[in-house]
Amino acid sequence: MSEAVYGAKCTACGAVSYPRHLVCPKCRGEAFQPAEIGGEGVVLTYTDVYALAIDYDVRYLRLAIVELDGGLRVTGQLLDEEPKLGKRVRTTVGVVRETAGKAIYGLQFVPA
Ligand SMILES: [Zn+2]
Repeated sequence: MSEAVYGAKCTACGAVSYPRHLVCPKCRGEAFQPAEIGGEGVVLTYTDVYALAIDYDVRYLRLAIVELDGGLRVTGQLLDEEPKLGKRVRTTVGVVRETAGKAIYGLQFVPA
């Protein structure tokens, strides 16, 4: 897979956040460098979102917050028909939506 998802690593304190914030949630720093997001972790929580923008062509999105090994918490799309809290998943990168024929890539989770 050539696509990758990058979070933002604070150049002041080293904290990584994904999705990115305008200021570092830890130290309020405003300078970042890209940090690749990936690996395995556990599902902390998930939800099915039905209220989607009109250009989505799916009925709902299953979103999860996953705590990666190492402690970083990330939000992404959960591709699992039998989701469970605490289940181990691994990150992958895929098309999370298409808009005007253009694919938008984002973070996804699949069972580990
Ligand atoms: Zn910081």
